[in-house]
Amino acid sequence: MTDLDVTMLLGELSRAAEACRACGLGEGRIQSVFSDGRPTADLMFVGEGPGKNEDLEGLPFVGKAGKLLNHLLGEVGLERADVYISNVVKCRPPANRDPLPDEIAACKHFLADQIRLVDPAVVMTMGNFSTKLLLKTTTGITRMRGQVVPWWNRIVIPTFHPAAALRNGPKMVETMRTDFQLAVDTISLKRAQADSVGQASELPAAADSESEQLGFFT
Ligand code: SF4
Repeated sequence: MTDLDVTMLLGELSRAAEACRACGLGEGRIQSVFSDGRPTADLMFVGEGPGKNEDLEGLPFVGKAGKLLNHLLGEVGLERADVYISNVVKCRPPANRDPLPDEIAACKHFLADQIRLVDPAVVMTMGNFSTKLLLKTTTGITRMRGQVVPWWNRIVIPTFHPAAALRNGPKMVETMRTDFQLAVDTISLKRAQADSVGQASELPAAADSESEQLGFFT
């Protein structure tokens, strides 16, 4: 699949999310918030769901949490345009409440398709919701963060949600900084391993689309 194919298919998915009313969140939103960043990025971030600013602007991680995310990316030599950013649910939960299990269940196929198409080497889950969804764990983010977890021929590295770090202060931000550096180092290591065996295609996963789609979140 070419980069253009990926971009076009993600565009179709984004339009499908905009038309979606599969759960109650579709009724209260201003607009769906599908993604931001590079469709062929090696590093993908998955948060929880849009907040008020995201609902207004149509982009994930704007406002203060977005500024912190951008800042942490800059510290590891990346820009927002270098990575792909999305959320577990694409529409804003009212009053920024947590997404409900039935809302996550209705929406997760969009995220599965995004991961399959973007095909990142490393996925950073930010916070409890995305971490628990991808890793099928009940363990909280405080214990999960910073782990390097093999996942469908990729790596998942959980970290805190930027909004939580803003509430909890510099110590949590410092922890996120460590996790971001770990993600960058992991990608570099995978690139070096691929180069050493002359297999540039090893960095993105070998795609078995059908089984991935069926298996990501089941
Ligand atoms: S949150 Fe997801 S499933 Fe619910 S209406 Fe929005 S796009 Fe559809």
